[in-house]
Parts: sequence; C-alpha cells; structure tokens
Amino acid sequence: MQVPFVDLKIQYQSIKNEIDTAIADVIDNTAFIKGKYVSAFERQFAELYGVKHVISCANGTDSLYIIMRMLGIGSGDEVITAANSWISSSETIAQTGAKPVFTDPDDELMSMSAEAVLNAITPNTKAVMAVHLHGQMTDIEGIEKLCKEKGLYLIEDCAQSHFSEMNGRRAGTIGIAGSFSFYPGKNLGAYGDAGCIITNDDELAEKCRMYANHGALKKHHHKIEGLNSRMDGIQAAVLCAKLPHILKWTDQRIANAALYNKYLDGINEIRIPKVRPSSKHTYHIYMIRAERRDELQNFLNDKGVATTTHYPTALPNLPAHSYLGYKPSDFPVATQLERDILSLPMYPELEEDAIKYVAEQIRAFYN
Ligand SMILES: *Cc1c(COP(=O)(O)O)cnc(C)c1O
Repeated sequence: MQVPFVDLKIQYQSIKNEIDTAIADVIDNTAFIKGKYVSAFERQFAELYGVKHVISCANGTDSLYIIMRMLGIGSGDEVITAANSWISSSETIAQTGAKPVFTDPDDELMSMSAEAVLNAITPNTKAVMAVHLHGQMTDIEGIEKLCKEKGLYLIEDCAQSHFSEMNGRRAGTIGIAGSFSFYPGKNLGAYGDAGCIITNDDELAEKCRMYANHGALKKHHHKIEGLNSRMDGIQAAVLCAKLPHILKWTDQRIANAALYNKYLDGINEIRIPKVRPSSKHTYHIYMIRAERRDELQNFLNDKGVATTTHYPTALPNLPAHSYLGYKPSDFPVATQLERDILSLPMYPELEEDAIKYVAEQIRAFYN
C-alpha cells in the first residue's frame, strides 16, 4: 500500500465543480487582485469563525509581520515565541527590528507554557506570539492571564490551528489579533499563497488593512508607507468554495486521529499526541514521538508510508538565528524533539485501511 503524507487532489475532486466554477468566474470578472471574492471571503470567514474583522493578505507570514508593525513593535523590543515553531514565527519578529526570544516547549504537549513565558519576560518584552502548533492550543489561558498582568500584547499564530478551541474560544480570538495561513497544505488551504489577520479591535483592523495595501484604504490615498500584501481573487474564490466544508473536514481529521490512537495503542516505544484538557485539537499534524526515529522513518518509507518532521531543527538552533547566541542546551526539549518527532500521514480523506496499515507497520518495526 502507498500512503502519501497529504493528498490535496482527493479534496479537489470531491468539490471540483464548485472550485472550477469559482475560478472561471474570477477570470470572467477579471477580479484578479482583491475584488468581490476577496470581500466575500473576508465576510464569510468572519461570520463562520465568530470574529468582527478579517483582513486578507498575501500569506501567513505577512499577517504576523503586519500585526506586529501595526502594534508598534520594533527596535529595542522583545517578542516571546516558541522554539519549536516554523521560522515565520521568529523571522517576522526580527524583521520588525525586535528581538525574538524563544521558550522551550513543555515535554508532554510540545507547546508554550505560561511558566516558560514568565521566565522569558524582561523589561524590554512588548508582546507574546503564542503558537498553536499541530492544531493543538498552547497554554493560552495561562499566557492570556500573564499578558494582562504584565501589560503585554498577545498575538496568536494560528497557521496550524483553524477552528481549534480552548474552553469554547477559538484560536485567534483570545489575544489582540490572530494570524492565519491558507498555504495549500494547511487545514484550510488555498491553491497558492494566502493568509489573513483576525481581530475584534476596530482600530487595529483599520491599520492592518491600510498597511497591507500600500498604506491606503482608498486608492491613491496613502496615509502611511505600507506593503503590497493582498489576496488574489483566485485564492479567495477557492477559499469561499471550501468554507462550507471546513467544519466537516475538521471533524474527519479528529476522527482519523482517534483511529490512529486506537491502532497505535500499546506500542511502548512511541508516544501518541496528548490533548490539552478543555481544548479541541484539530490535527493539522498527527505527531508521535518515537525511539529510533530515523530507522523507523526509513522503514516506513520502504513500506510506502510517507512521513516527515515538523521541524528537523529548532528555531534557536538554525544558522539564521545564530547571531542571537543560543546553545542547544538552552532549549533541551526543543532540541530533543529534533531527534524523536515524526509526523504521520494526516488529511480528512485518509481512509481507515490506510491508518490501520501505517499503525501495523510501526508495530512490525518494533517487533
Ligand atoms: C505555515 C506557517 C506560517 C506561515 O504561513 P505562510 O502562509 O506559509 O507564510 C506561520 N506560522 C506557522 C506556525 C506555520 O505553520
């Protein structure tokens, strides 16, 4: 059996008519940049997600940068984030002129704890960028409380956590603003790059909208120097076509994770993902921790099972951040994760037979 890591084509085939019609309509209307599909997506996503403002932009990296710039974060400031995230979380902090400060994840849930954030606070700390990795909410309530006490902005990187929840509150609605990526492989994916900012703050929303569009809300009325970070009409049309299905696809991911849990039960050499109490994990990634990870990964590859690691190198250990002067021993958990994490195939349309096959191969490897 061949089990790919993700299969974006099955989903396309299941809604081919809706997608093809929407794309053809964008071309018919020559609504290539912004336009009616972009406004429609902003409105529909805001309504479905339960947030006042959705500001579309070019990708989920720009959305982080735009939020921080419009909060006035820059040179002399520090922003605390996760050591085991994707580089967008840290490179955008540095791009504002601020210093990225990393926290080591907790070993059980592999995400930021309020305690680690507290230990990283200095007089220069301006904000915390909480990252909800793998579809799992980070310790957001603890971090929210801490940010309120210390007067810090709380920004949520939700690129991996569309529709994830903590005590009924959705990712991105807890801090001042949330950032989403619609990269094709994300839980809600476009057919190219796209992203957005969500916020309930009117003033921040207007600033972000202006900054993402050359500093202008109206054509030629440039109030500030801005960026060209706009969503394409085609990407918005694809996202609009997908929105009516996203809650069902999210449930399918959760059901697939439950099947993995069942079939992987009792294998002592691995750890399956734990769910934070009172939270809804949406399984962008189903990540296990495995003894002899490299050997297991090769074995699975030989058996037709594609796996990957998110991510092979922790952010503070990357050459890009070497100027910050961290050592691997400063982040023992993040550095250990480099050696034992393994992301198994996960997508809504993954069949039970395939999940069972993957689990059987893992069991066979350790036997
Ligand atoms: C994917 C991702 C991003 C960036 O999104 P792009 O749309 O690819 O720019 C940011 N943060 C995290 C945690 C991500 O996984």
